[in-house]
Amino acid sequence: SSNGLIVTFGEMLIDFVPTVSGVSLAEAPGFLKAPGGAPANVAIAVARLGGNAAFIGKLGDDEFGHMLAGILTDNGVSAEGVNFDKGARTALAFVTLRADGEREFMFYRNPSADMLLNSHDLNLKLITSAKVFHYGSISLIAEPCRSAHLKAMEAAKDAGALLSYDPNLRLPLWPSADEARKQIMSIWDKADVIKVSDVELEFLTRSNKIDDESAMSLWHDNLKLLLVTLGEKGCRYYTKKFYGVVDAYHVKAVDTTGAGDSFVGALLCKIVDDHAIIEEEQRLKEVLKYACACGAITTTKKGAIPALPTHSEVLTLQNK
Ligand code: ADP
Repeated sequence: SSNGLIVTFGEMLIDFVPTVSGVSLAEAPGFLKAPGGAPANVAIAVARLGGNAAFIGKLGDDEFGHMLAGILTDNGVSAEGVNFDKGARTALAFVTLRADGEREFMFYRNPSADMLLNSHDLNLKLITSAKVFHYGSISLIAEPCRSAHLKAMEAAKDAGALLSYDPNLRLPLWPSADEARKQIMSIWDKADVIKVSDVELEFLTRSNKIDDESAMSLWHDNLKLLLVTLGEKGCRYYTKKFYGVVDAYHVKAVDTTGAGDSFVGALLCKIVDDHAIIEEEQRLKEVLKYACACGAITTTKKGAIPALPTHSEVLTLQNK
């Protein structure tokens, strides 16, 4: 387990998912609340593994906002950096995977409290005590959150934190695909560690190839580690000196929501106190195996947060 502080920045919201699978939103007989938001999931993933995590973001000063803050603290994540907006409401999403395989979304974001975090809201004391600072790209979509994101990133970096970026593309939230690509790439060269999914690799490189060449085309000079997650095929890793593949664990997947966040949380937990692991291939591979085990376990249960594993659950899978 780790002691160094991992701070995550960005959105936290509630997904409402139908009580039965395979229906459209209009056909759903009812909905279940599934709290999430990638950066919040990563913070909870870290805490569940025994790490030290804090989340920075803004929630509505409403029932849902206070429920979400409670979920952070109940899971051992510091909510010191959470602000409550007096006017706007907590972000909500209605999400379903229809029988025809298409995802259907509806968002309450007009604008939601998470996008109203501004630079003055930032808890800089917390941010500058981070050993790792992790973020996504949804907080880049609009002001004032975009400026707050850039300021927080810079403050963390100046204070010596490792910057970790998972663009976590949610295309329906962006005004256009081009705008998403442009904004995601606008902070690309700031990060020390970047994790993309296979789908994001295709999107960002505008190609339908998921190979070493296309991954390496995303390399930048300051980058220390690039990861491409491949679902049941595990992950690929790239550093300045070496690259390779780590296989996935075989599990019976029921819901892959949160697998990537679980993977990232585990990785950050393992490198927070020893950034040099990234430069040693054998040690890095051990860490990535652990992260793949975390991702695998997360797919075996419904939802993201309820499915994030403890350290002992990971060891059980690894020792099978
Ligand atoms: P993302 O959410 O970024 O798309 P993935 O779905 O690729 O992430 O999952 C992250 C990691 O979790 C993968 O690298 C893999 O190790 C593990 N994982 C995901 N899906 C499965 C699966 N069906 N079986 C086993 N492991 C999985």
